[in-house]
Amino acid sequence: MNSAADALDKLPRRQFAKLPTPIDELANLSRALGGPRILVKRDDLTGLATGGNKTRKLEFLIADALSRGADCVITAGGPQSNHCRQTAAAAAIAGLACHLVLGGEPQPPLGNLLLDELLGATIHWTPKPRRTARIAELADELRAQGRRPYPIPIGGSNALGALGYIAAMFELVEQLAQQGRAVDHILFATSSGGTQAGIVLGARLASFTGRITAISIDQTPDDQSDEKFLAGVCREANAAAALLGSDARLTVADFATNYDYLGAGYGIVGDLERDAIRMLARTEGLLVGPVYTGRAAGAMVDLIRRGAYRPDETVLFWHTGDDAALHAYASDLV
Ligand SMILES: *Cc1c(COP(=O)(O)O)cnc(C)c1O
Repeated sequence: MNSAADALDKLPRRQFAKLPTPIDELANLSRALGGPRILVKRDDLTGLATGGNKTRKLEFLIADALSRGADCVITAGGPQSNHCRQTAAAAAIAGLACHLVLGGEPQPPLGNLLLDELLGATIHWTPKPRRTARIAELADELRAQGRRPYPIPIGGSNALGALGYIAAMFELVEQLAQQGRAVDHILFATSSGGTQAGIVLGARLASFTGRITAISIDQTPDDQSDEKFLAGVCREANAAAALLGSDARLTVADFATNYDYLGAGYGIVGDLERDAIRMLARTEGLLVGPVYTGRAAGAMVDLIRRGAYRPDETVLFWHTGDDAALHAYASDLV
């Protein structure tokens, strides 16, 4: 057995996801585009108050919180954060209180924000640039009240979170082998980078040989935050390798990232997203979301139209969720 896979199996993990998620073929979409074969890895079906990519990360993060004796978790995101909604659901299952730091002004309870409230999370609004600082302040406040908080970074993107997508790559490679399928290209949305860290390191550990390209949703090559985006992704990937006792080490050059589809900014729906959401819905009955997967699917459609892939190649779109946000964006989508 692969020793990294073995090490992964031994780490504390709280099961939340329904695995393996299916791989579906999007034959109608391929035909409509006259393009390559298109497969979709359905991580929108992971489960956990709908589904999405954070379910896999939270299996390791919540297990760590429990093993450290935490009684509450704190995390942060945008008002329509899928990560926050899934953290609230995981916390509810694990019997932990959940505090969510959301960037911006209070908003009407729609989409993920409605679900956060139903799931029992306490919401703390703060200006977007202060979210990470607010997590730390809130942790201090809660400790002063005798609570035992477990802070989770934005997107659950640290080495522990990345383990979820290392496991997912082992799952994918095994599933493709069973189905007798080969994949030439994997495309998915990247933002806080934990998914990308896990997929790229997982590919190395599971000997996946296709090309992996992350579609940036909001990160620019020289980033908005204090460190360069890919330097952070690479650091967490290498920290995850260390957790597994693996001597695999990656460099930023291993993380192919496409920054061409940033549109008008994070969470702003444009024609690219609107058209892709409709196209996938109307050809395949498949829902992608307004913030992440609509943008990444729009990028895939555009790349196919530009001839980036040969007709005999297979592209796998890793669906990371986001459909729970659709209703909150109704007025931008019709
Ligand atoms: C969080 C999220 C992503 C991005 O994953 P990161 O690990 O933050 O890069 C992609 N798609 C959806 C639906 C998400 O919620």
